[in-house]
Amino acid sequence: MKKAIFWFRRDLRLEDNTALFQCLNEHDVVIPVFIFDKSILEKLPKADKRVEFIWHCIQHIKTKLNAIGSDIIVVHDYPREIIQLAIEHQVDSVYCTEDYEPDAISRDQFVRDELSKNNIQFKNFKDTVIFAKREILNQQGQPYHVFTAYKNAWRAKLHSSNFHHYCSEDLLEKMVKLPKSELMSLESIGFEKTSIGDKPLVGANHAHKLFADFKTDKAQYYKENREFPSISGTSFLSTHFRFGTISIRQVVREILELSDVAMGRFREGCDTWLNEIIWRDFYFQILFNDPHVVHTSFKPQYHNFPWQTDAVLFKAWCEGQTGYPLVDAAMIQLNTLGYMHNRMRMLTASFLTKIMLIDYKMGEQYFAEKLLDFDLAANSGGWQWSASTGCDSQPYFRIFNPMTQSKKFDSEGLFIRKYLPIFADVPTKFLHAPWEYQKELQALGIKLGKDYPLPIVNYVEARKATLMCFDDFLKSTPKATQDSERESE
Ligand SMILES: Cc1cc2nc3c(=O)[nH]c(=O)nc-3n(C[C@H](O)[C@H](O)[C@H](O)COP(=O)(O)OP(=O)(O)OC[C@H]3O[C@@H](n4cnc5c(N)ncnc54)[C@H](O)[C@@H]3O)c2cc1C
Repeated sequence: MKKAIFWFRRDLRLEDNTALFQCLNEHDVVIPVFIFDKSILEKLPKADKRVEFIWHCIQHIKTKLNAIGSDIIVVHDYPREIIQLAIEHQVDSVYCTEDYEPDAISRDQFVRDELSKNNIQFKNFKDTVIFAKREILNQQGQPYHVFTAYKNAWRAKLHSSNFHHYCSEDLLEKMVKLPKSELMSLESIGFEKTSIGDKPLVGANHAHKLFADFKTDKAQYYKENREFPSISGTSFLSTHFRFGTISIRQVVREILELSDVAMGRFREGCDTWLNEIIWRDFYFQILFNDPHVVHTSFKPQYHNFPWQTDAVLFKAWCEGQTGYPLVDAAMIQLNTLGYMHNRMRMLTASFLTKIMLIDYKMGEQYFAEKLLDFDLAANSGGWQWSASTGCDSQPYFRIFNPMTQSKKFDSEGLFIRKYLPIFADVPTKFLHAPWEYQKELQALGIKLGKDYPLPIVNYVEARKATLMCFDDFLKSTPKATQDSERESE
């Protein structure tokens, strides 16, 4: 009898799971295991939506396994416990999905070495992305640093084998027979229930419904609607991609099929969306090939940039108290939902780094604590893009103007009113720059500086100061360290 352990990590599903398929295919009996990793959980607040999301996903897997006389072994421990479990259950191998974060790579190397001392194999497989690590390289055999060039190479290399369906769901009879057990409670691992059960976008079983909605409806308007935070125009699948509750190969396969038969705006919507999926792969390969982005800027010339750390400004930004309604509404969306619209992520990140000149690392860390879809690769990529320190990031002189963004992308103030109810009944024209209408607002019973903050910084002056700071800094930085980018890709 060939026996193996399957270690669930960021691939919390039984269907179309590459590593699970390989494990089931090559063994007679498979023991599924999940570890609530103490080394991660110890650093989190008691009410953490992500832990609850994971808990629901495990419960879902458990229910499915129970229905076929199996179960999942769930422990609350450090990852090295997998070694004990493998020895105890006398398996010949441990299978799992590849993880590209630097800490995870070290963890897996440690587990691999320890298992091998006991003649147990450690096998991991790509499942989280379409192309990983060094699969897409430029003509010099180096990873791409420019997105458009990467995207073209990604599309050129794409073959049906890259989105093959691995039918793990058809082999589940090989899952070990175990009596049903209760899943340990959130409380027993030190966590409290949060409000995520009430939010349709975070429900553990909603990935397939969200994707179906996207394909049948949202895709045709995606290209235009994705820019407007008050419209539910995007897929909301990021959290599911983060935890692997839907297969990335499935979505690519089905979007390509749809795009093949679709016309006009439907096809454009599918193509635009696929580009976003490619951005996701792009940032994964950056993280893998340039892991220094976790600690410092991708571009070496910014390693010593004089970022500020002003605690008062940072707190106002975190709490949605900057006095710029669109920025504040977006931060309140993040604080209440654990989600923020993509354009709002760009705006708030630009505001923190280019208007407050605060270290992008502080913003990156705040997003990492709050986002349900937090992903080290995409978050680091997004922050460094905004701060202009990243790979293929926006030029340093591009600074989002919060008033213009507000007029353009929330012209009716629907998003602002949703998250800043104080403005619920205020005429739209006051919303984009309320400090210009102080008298009118006071007549409506809203005193700026008391009921809603006056701008914490003056946009025009702050913008000028930022540009000067970047110009001076870059002038003083030796040319040799200025650019390691290969623009010719
Ligand atoms: C400062 C900043 C921080 C970010 N942090 C994260 C993060 O921690 N986790 C995360 O998943 N995304 C992050 N993003 C990217 C993006 O904002 C979210 O992926 C997107 O808003 C999720 O909503 P959706 O699933 O409805 O996206 P859709 O518009 O439906 O896009 C489909 C999928 O494509 C991927 N995607 C979309 N945009 C990007 C992008 N710019 N970079 C990489 N992948 C993308 C996501 O997986 C997303 O689910 C960040 C962007 C910025 C500017």
